[in-house]
Amino acid sequence: MSLKVYNTLARKKEEFIPREKERVSMYVCGPTVYNYIHIGNARCYVAFDVIYRYLQYRGYGVTYVRNLTDVDDKIINRAKEEGLDTKEVAEKYIKAFHEDMENLGNKPPQIEPRATEHIDEMLEVIKCLIEKGFAYEIDGDVFFEVQRFNGYGELSGRTLEKMRAGERVDVDKRKRHPMDFALWKSSKPGEPNWDGPWGKGRPGWHIECSAMSSKYLGMGFDIHGGGHDLIFPHHENEIAQAEACAGKAPFVRYWLHNGFVNIRDEKMAKSLGNVILVREILKKYGSNVLRMFFVSTHYRSPINYTEENLDSAAAALERIENAIQNIDYLLNKSEEIAGTAMSGIEGFEEMIKGVEEKFAQAMDDDFNTASALGAIFDFIKEINLFLEESQKNLSEKSRYLLKEARDKLIKLMGVLGIKLGRKEVAKKLPGELLDLAKSIVGQAFEKEGTALGALVDAREKARREKDWTKADLVRKELGKLGFILKDTPRGCQVIYEEK
Ligand code: AMP
Ligand code: ZN
Repeated sequence: MSLKVYNTLARKKEEFIPREKERVSMYVCGPTVYNYIHIGNARCYVAFDVIYRYLQYRGYGVTYVRNLTDVDDKIINRAKEEGLDTKEVAEKYIKAFHEDMENLGNKPPQIEPRATEHIDEMLEVIKCLIEKGFAYEIDGDVFFEVQRFNGYGELSGRTLEKMRAGERVDVDKRKRHPMDFALWKSSKPGEPNWDGPWGKGRPGWHIECSAMSSKYLGMGFDIHGGGHDLIFPHHENEIAQAEACAGKAPFVRYWLHNGFVNIRDEKMAKSLGNVILVREILKKYGSNVLRMFFVSTHYRSPINYTEENLDSAAAALERIENAIQNIDYLLNKSEEIAGTAMSGIEGFEEMIKGVEEKFAQAMDDDFNTASALGAIFDFIKEINLFLEESQKNLSEKSRYLLKEARDKLIKLMGVLGIKLGRKEVAKKLPGELLDLAKSIVGQAFEKEGTALGALVDAREKARREKDWTKADLVRKELGKLGFILKDTPRGCQVIYEEK
């Protein structure tokens, strides 16, 4: 079975043949660190985390590089707003980004290069482009001359004529073509700057990714990824810079782009002011639900953020978790349950064997997580039927099969980065629990643990009394503090996600 990936450059699915037989090289554009990341950004990093995990699952060694853009106009502006210097802004949001990645359950890349630590490499590429006649300098700024590069527009499918038609009026008149883009920008007083042959300045954004990806992965590496909005101009420009300087192609073998997260029919974007921060949503739903929301749709399709869609993801996840909990419950019973010979045991055994193949087939088709989940849910149906039978008749063999089924579910969901079979986590609990219990239960508690227990009991009681408003209030308020309540056949399980 071969893996097929949709290559934006070829505009079709292609068989994935890496440069080296057993090792895949992958570069994903990382964040510009001037703000907390939102769900749209998170989708990109989760999509490529799943791709990373699946490539590893398939037996490849993967060198995964994801950069940090720590010099940019947006960082300079944010520094002015926050009264910090640009380094402090970058450090603050790099730390926040790392926290968000960990809380999302993303594996860290092997290499995480920072732009400011690779200025020399960028200067080398810019000098090379000037020497080869692809770039020109004016008043301390250096521009790439798009007309000199033959393949310009191939990735995005745009011609220079069309681009010129969409030309903006405020285009810099010093440029030879309106689409020429900055490789080096002379710095204004007070801005971060480095010494270059053209005076003090800083690199443009696009040169950063060409220089760093080539440094760590070499020309012709396997996968370059990012969100759909990076195809033009960012990735188009990366190709032009890298291929013009190296004098050979391709810079990258497969270009992969994830679709947008939309909200109220618009792209979620910092510039549109409609973002929902990852850290907010994780507090409420936890990483498994957010990942379930993402992987329920193919990574290239757009996805709509609504509370209902997240609730459906939570419900879908709960079906899987319930199956695991019900298996655990039955397996924890010590006694055998003797009954008549069980029907369907062979079918179930086949199903356990087959589910992994179906899962892999779906993932081999351009990482189709939605269809891989389809295979998982077919499996859940069978598990539930088998569980019903097993309650009447639990033999040694059915115990073994149930355990196999459980392990398989945990393994396959793990490929999607969804961790199952977690037990309640004991961590230092937040002090706010005391106030919450006081206002909801109407009693003062000294210990957070007791307050939590009282709140969970109060919710159970409200549910028994069909006081859904109160039950929901407890769940929501606890959610804000990082607690996720799961109703299982054996009562309420509490998962605490906060650090
Ligand atoms: P930025 O920090 O804006 O450069 O974005 C970081 C990554 O998130 C890039 O790969 C973007 O393409 C991606 N991204 C930004 N907004 C969205 C969105 N609404 N949906 C999906 N991906 C996005
Ligand atoms: Zn990039």
